[in-house]
Amino acid sequence: MADKALTPITVARGDGIGPEIMDATLRILEAGGARLAIEEIEIGEKVYERGISAGIEPSSWESLRRTKVFLKAPITTPQGGGFKSLNVTVRKTLGMFANVRPCLSYSPFIATKHPSMDVVIVRENEEDLYAGIEHQQTDEVVQCLKLLSRPGTEKIVRYAFEYARRYNRKKVTCFTKDNIMKLTDGMFHKVFEEVAAEYSDIENEHWIIDIGAAKLADTPEAFDVIVMPNLYGDILSDVAAQIAGSVGLAGSANIGTEVSMFEAIHGSAPRRAGQNLANPSGLFLGAVQMLVHIGQGDVAEMVHNAWLCTIEDGIHTYDVFEEGVSTQKVGTKEFADAVIERIGRRPQVLKAVTYPATDEPIVIEVAETVAAEKVQVGIDVFLHWKAGKPDDLGHALEATAGSDLKLVMVSNRGQKVYPGGVPETFCTDHWRCRFQSATDGGVVSTSEAIALLGRMHEAGFDFIKTEGLYTFDGVAGYTLGQGQ
Ligand code: NAD
Repeated sequence: MADKALTPITVARGDGIGPEIMDATLRILEAGGARLAIEEIEIGEKVYERGISAGIEPSSWESLRRTKVFLKAPITTPQGGGFKSLNVTVRKTLGMFANVRPCLSYSPFIATKHPSMDVVIVRENEEDLYAGIEHQQTDEVVQCLKLLSRPGTEKIVRYAFEYARRYNRKKVTCFTKDNIMKLTDGMFHKVFEEVAAEYSDIENEHWIIDIGAAKLADTPEAFDVIVMPNLYGDILSDVAAQIAGSVGLAGSANIGTEVSMFEAIHGSAPRRAGQNLANPSGLFLGAVQMLVHIGQGDVAEMVHNAWLCTIEDGIHTYDVFEEGVSTQKVGTKEFADAVIERIGRRPQVLKAVTYPATDEPIVIEVAETVAAEKVQVGIDVFLHWKAGKPDDLGHALEATAGSDLKLVMVSNRGQKVYPGGVPETFCTDHWRCRFQSATDGGVVSTSEAIALLGRMHEAGFDFIKTEGLYTFDGVAGYTLGQGQ
């Protein structure tokens, strides 16, 4: 009967320092009265060594899908090719769209240049350049596709606002580079503005990522919750954790619609393994996020405040120990014991935490996409070509356009080089050739596009890919070439 109150979770002890910091974390949770029914799975090095390239046994997915909560210690990714990142696999397979990383300073007990920093980075976790679609297209050019979806963007932006509302945050900031990536980052920014309009209780702002990142590194107090696409979030969440004090102290939550994963942000630190040296704080703070997520905010509050007391009492592991500030250098086990001894106490100098004792995880619903009227108005044909100057290519291509189409421009690495290029532009062997209807604004049919490719093939051109130029409800779904 008592088991009814327990929340099932899946635990993986990982590699390197993983088992030690997991043991310390679970001991603190148990002492704090966490109501957990733990299922253990094996991930990482041993699984990779058995020839399973994903680093996780097929049977382990059942546990994750059953409990829907994964507390994961870091793993060691074996050197050499053929091994897939377990983290990326788990996140993407189970739709963990949001990576939530609180970056908080613990001044004056942990050295930092930013004593009042308290920022939460909400990073999109599934899309962007992490789709992993990469190709070598010519001798000289490789490409990686940056894919952003409207529902994926809306989900992460809504999550950021809901998170802000739930945890009494005042402002959500969006970072993008939409002055350059007008369609991808442009959509992220646009969706941010649309969603922000529904949360009049929360301040919102947008920064171009470069100056935003500089501001974050210099004046993190200016920010509260920051939401951003995957790659920027990956980089800036490490920067934010480091300037708050130490990457060794940060935990993170990977939130999915069904299954969520909680972990430290650091790796398995193999050189520190088995020596009772490692700081368990990152994993522990990930576990605190887990407790809140599963509706055990009461336990989360108690153990987190005990941890803050330990930090302010100067009881520190070697990585954050500092003469004159710290009072006692302890190992992993002793640090956990010190936290356990302080359960029930609240910090005196550091701000005590309070968590809502709600049972409801944040649920995000995204509107169905309404199909627009999509019309093809052109085609970009990409060529592998190294037989002369841009004008030679342009003239040869004019002859392939036929009567239905016209060659509008040729660009090289995005810069227009025909017609009207200049000799100073550096050109590679990778060309984008834009054809549109011979009639201004006219429709280009699939058969006209195929016929064009046939003529280009006949003329001996090596086309490596095409992209359709479409309008959606009359709005161009493509950008102009630089200088077009
Ligand atoms: P790392 O984070 O393991 O270690 C970086 C440095 O920080 C080392 O000096 C280490 O001793 C120290 N450190 C890290 N965590 C610490 C802790 N809790 N207490 C005290 N000191 C700590 O990064 P790395 O050395 O680049 O990677 C080691 C392995 O971890 C690699 O196999 C890598 O692929 C893997 N990794 C796994 C994850 C994950 O599972 N989420 C994340 C990052 C790296």
